[in-house]
Amino acid sequence: MKKINAYAAKEAGGTLEKFQYELPEIGKEEVDIKVHYCGICHSDLSMIHNDWGMSQFPLVPGHEIVGEVMALGSDVSGLKVGDKVGMGWNSGACMHCNQCLDGKQHLCGSSEATIVGRHGGFADFVRGHWSWVIPLPKGLDMAKAGPLFCGGITVFNPIVLSGVQPTDKVGVIGVGGLGHMAIKFLKAWGCEVTAFSSNPNKKEEILKMGAHHVVDSTKPEALEGITGTLNFILNTTNVTLDWNSFLTTLAPQGKLHTVGAVLEPMAIPAFSLIMGEKSVGGSPIGSIALTKKMLEFCVRHSIYPTVEEFKLEDVNKAIKHLEDGKARFRIVLKA
Ligand code: NAP
Ligand code: ZN
Repeated sequence: MKKINAYAAKEAGGTLEKFQYELPEIGKEEVDIKVHYCGICHSDLSMIHNDWGMSQFPLVPGHEIVGEVMALGSDVSGLKVGDKVGMGWNSGACMHCNQCLDGKQHLCGSSEATIVGRHGGFADFVRGHWSWVIPLPKGLDMAKAGPLFCGGITVFNPIVLSGVQPTDKVGVIGVGGLGHMAIKFLKAWGCEVTAFSSNPNKKEEILKMGAHHVVDSTKPEALEGITGTLNFILNTTNVTLDWNSFLTTLAPQGKLHTVGAVLEPMAIPAFSLIMGEKSVGGSPIGSIALTKKMLEFCVRHSIYPTVEEFKLEDVNKAIKHLEDGKARFRIVLKA
């Protein structure tokens, strides 16, 4: 038995309180990680508030974890004690279904999510299956790497999935944790990037991180100037926006892709898709192999999330900062 010191919400919407729990003897395929840093994703807030109806309390949030391997089960290969590693939304997959065998463990029907029905990374230790415990490449700054393991791969995956070309004109809706990483990736990809933001105070910083244009995401009339121009738009907000206006900004065969967990059904008029052979899609995080490729891409292009660091014991202050829309652009807790 191992005693874990964590922070947990005891009920939906509750503030986080100190919480201890015990982990049983380590399983043959399991890895224990000493947490060094953990990002705060909006999905942590949604889980605390039980927005998706799948939270179990007490709930230890945290699924943008980086740290160090402290213990390994007897059947784990490819990792050793002391390795610097990361773990994101997933902490396990069955490893024998067709999706897993096809290298798409993030689509496994019985995958384990780090903060669903088990405890996450707002803690001194966290446990995961070896498959999702991913070594950090040399040269990656641990203090900034955590957010890559959920937010980063979530926005990197659709760029690959949708075949975005360096010649494409693309849009990113919402410049928070996910959105700002998407802008950095798409800029390095070679695209012309339009950021759609509701906050005019972010404009200078958005341009500095590589966007070519900034447009107000909440004013459909602001979109009229770019009608029919974008090949790909990535939505990272969870709010209801004027989706039809965004569809009109797409070029023929363009795609509106959401990774933002929009809480209400999205209104998509059929004719807005039909006439230009346009499409709408969505995706969860990304595969293990693609996560590794993304990390290499980050090292090659010196891409890091822009982070604000809080101490783990200040987790409630950090959560309020994010809820108030003040995060620039991803909060990371230092354990
Ligand atoms: P975040 O840091 O809070 O950023 C969300 C951004 O949305 C905000 O910074 C803001 O950008 C914009 N926004 C918020 N309220 C708005 C409003 N009323 N009108 C217009 N824009 C608004 O959140 P995040 O961590 O990036 O997560 C974003 C979403 O992705 C969440 O729904 C999260 O659950 C989801 N998510 C999904 C996956 C997946 O697997 N698909 C993975 C991770 C996260 P501006 O200030 O620029 O407008
Ligand atoms: Zn997340």
